[in-house]
Amino acid sequence: MPLTGIEIFKLLPKTNCKECGVPTCLAFAMALAAGKASLSQCPHVSQEAQAKLAEASAPPILPLTIGIGKRALKIGGETVMFRHEKRFENPPGLAMLISDTLEDSQVNARLERFKQLEYERVGLTLRPELIALKGESGDAARFAAAVGKVVQGSDANIILMSENAEVLAAGVKACADRKPLLCAATAENMGQVAELAKQNSCPVVARAPGLEKLSELTTRLGQAGVKDIVLDSGARTVRQAFEDQVIIRRSALVKKFRPLGFPTIVFPCEMTSDELKEAVIASAFVAKYAGIIVLSDFQGHSVFPLLVERMNIYTDPQRPLATSEGIYQIGIPDENSPVLLTTNFALTYFLISGYIEAGKVSSYLLVKDTEGLSVMTAWAAGKFVADAIAPFVKKCGIADKVKHRKLIIPGYAAAESGGLEEELPGWQILVGPREGAHIPAYLKTWKP
Ligand code: SF4
Repeated sequence: MPLTGIEIFKLLPKTNCKECGVPTCLAFAMALAAGKASLSQCPHVSQEAQAKLAEASAPPILPLTIGIGKRALKIGGETVMFRHEKRFENPPGLAMLISDTLEDSQVNARLERFKQLEYERVGLTLRPELIALKGESGDAARFAAAVGKVVQGSDANIILMSENAEVLAAGVKACADRKPLLCAATAENMGQVAELAKQNSCPVVARAPGLEKLSELTTRLGQAGVKDIVLDSGARTVRQAFEDQVIIRRSALVKKFRPLGFPTIVFPCEMTSDELKEAVIASAFVAKYAGIIVLSDFQGHSVFPLLVERMNIYTDPQRPLATSEGIYQIGIPDENSPVLLTTNFALTYFLISGYIEAGKVSSYLLVKDTEGLSVMTAWAAGKFVADAIAPFVKKCGIADKVKHRKLIIPGYAAAESGGLEEELPGWQILVGPREGAHIPAYLKTWKP
């Protein structure tokens, strides 16, 4: 059981030195108990106390990593029920199912599709992370061969799916260096799968019918030395699986019930045979509260909306998504190309750059840091006014890139045109359209 705030306080130095950023040791203890602070913030806690506090300071839903290297997937580590309370930490991984009974050509087609499903949006790269290999044949050699094919054809993180420990062992042998997720340990095979996981340092899915049996199983796995656990409550109807997600999150966060304090895996692929319905079900679990979502296949039209939804839900609600300040080239601009100006609110940048691209006139887009505010808001806040814009235009280096001296500002910042002409001697300030959608037509009239 996690320690209470008072129990934690007893283990702290009680000097109230404030180095943790909190006024008193008691306040720090309370924050630690609530999962709102990290033990590492106190540099004076003794080693003995550290060991005792480790459990209390761990997030109520333990984090774990599947895979290795740059593409390794971290899930769990969540500390709040609702995004607006703080933020959600680690986005759920999306997994494409591949059965070992598929023909080679079908497997290759899926691997190829997996590679291609990569999108740039608001300066981020969105893509799915996992391939779930299902040992449907029940044949260990066949399963290992399928795993080998995936290892060769993809750098995806891997989930090995079989309740047969021998089949799982054969799969692990073919991809142990990828640190796959073993799916699943059950009450029946727990001993063998726990050993396999420990020998290969792999995380494990604990699967049991219902939350009571599931918490018994995770307790046994913990006693066997397995710490990295993913929960599968066995539910394969949308309603039951959704209910389980909410109860698991609430038990871990509100009740501090450690046996359910792990990330979860859900299987929309087993809840419907309709591809679009499956995507809709998956979208519910992106919001509440899956750690991994397994889909029967990936298609751009179903995966892209899930990736965008996931990105939106897992952004920090207290911090607007922003791009970096600077000069962005759209197309292949030259010294006669138009120069447009906007703010660094990511959505604004994304829309404006898209409209410039649609206009098919290569341009420079100057992106001014407005702390992630949109044009209107930044202007109203005094962050997108002549005094602030002019120094940026002077120092960004655009004057070395173009021969002309014309700057197109957003229509919503038209009031700044006079001030900018004063602040930027030699520059002509052109007021662009108020609506981004009118940019392509506007650019057609461009003359340097
Ligand atoms: S840094 Fe440690 S000792 Fe200092 S106030 Fe915070 S908890 Fe107390």
